[in-house]
Amino acid sequence: MNKSILFLLFLFTISGNSYATTWLKLSENGTSKLMLDKQSVLQQDLLKKAWVKIEYKTPQENLESLGKQYNLSKLLWFFDCNSQKSATSQVFQYLDNELVYSAGVDSKNAEFIEPVPESDMDIAMRHICLSGNAVATATEVKPTKTSTPPAASKEATSKAEAKPEPSPEKPAAPVAKTGTPAVKTTPVKSGAAKDNAQKPHWAYEGKEGPENWAKLSPEFATCEIGRNQSPINIEDTMHTTLKPVRGIQKFPAKEIFNNGHTVQVNFKEGNMLVLDSAPYQMKEVHFHAPSENKIHNKSFPLEAHFVHADSKGNLTVIAVMFKEGKANPALAKLWLEMPKKEGEPVALKTRVIPSELIPENRAYYRFSGSLTTPPCSEGVRWILMKTPMTASKEQIETFEQAIHHTNNRPVQALNGRLVVE
Ligand SMILES: [Zn+2]
Repeated sequence: MNKSILFLLFLFTISGNSYATTWLKLSENGTSKLMLDKQSVLQQDLLKKAWVKIEYKTPQENLESLGKQYNLSKLLWFFDCNSQKSATSQVFQYLDNELVYSAGVDSKNAEFIEPVPESDMDIAMRHICLSGNAVATATEVKPTKTSTPPAASKEATSKAEAKPEPSPEKPAAPVAKTGTPAVKTTPVKSGAAKDNAQKPHWAYEGKEGPENWAKLSPEFATCEIGRNQSPINIEDTMHTTLKPVRGIQKFPAKEIFNNGHTVQVNFKEGNMLVLDSAPYQMKEVHFHAPSENKIHNKSFPLEAHFVHADSKGNLTVIAVMFKEGKANPALAKLWLEMPKKEGEPVALKTRVIPSELIPENRAYYRFSGSLTTPPCSEGVRWILMKTPMTASKEQIETFEQAIHHTNNRPVQALNGRLVVE
């Protein structure tokens, strides 16, 4: 893999979603305040890079996009300390914490210039180039979850994350390098709507659709530059002797909710699987229609994702395909209580256990991938059951109507990954 891509990948992983930000005030004057994200400072070969944010006291005009104003910029800057030149790689502009503009180029294509003396870039470059990676001095701003501008907050990953239970793919945000548990097993609570106002919004179509996820927020960068993204089309596979998936799937579902992106069912604690000798607790199940993964280019009308996490927040997703056929008894029970509109979780009256939604034949494909929703964090183990379950046409349509749109991310490049079976 190209070194610079690896580097960028690393940068974005780091700066994107895997640590608590620590903002350091570098300068402040009558018009603006320049802050450096200390944790984002990294060096690779001759370049250093860092995320900064500039808070403006009055709205500024965006020169590229006339009429658009902003009062907060978040920028990824590269510094060539030898030649004393700097370049902007990523720009995110916010007006009252709402993202209004974004643009970016990788460091190789970025234009390095000598910063205007005493400009923000100049101040940042001098600080970074003089202080090395362990940045000190200046006024350290308390590293709280709210220290980032809400719209750009590292913790505020996806809309779904605001929801009571982590939706499948997003818990991974913090997975990577922090000690933060990837899956926030926050008890169900209200306030989701309030939180959502501060989360980057994403969708399955239009300007906020999958092609543009990375442009919506810095912490979604992995969606574009990641090299191990999900879903995938399973084509060539390597035959090995995969161990049977061992687990416990007998504890019932406790609540169901529609988060606008999917319908999610949360289960009581106790369900788990053992993979590579490590235990993973089952967190929830949610659905995609049509399927996200494909098998030999074949798409299925419905796919369920059973999201599991280990104690460090590493994720394993068991994926089960549904083909059209006989009505599925477990879905029949769940769909009766499925909220038709986005909203808070509702307690389930019916009893459904996970094994009712997993085929008896447990032969599977295994591969490495990512969350299929922003922030598209990688390092997710995927177990895709080869045998589909069935769901009736009506059951598939009932789900589609509850979501009001398709909710499958397109398949992503394998980039050399192996699928084993
Ligand atoms: Zn999913």
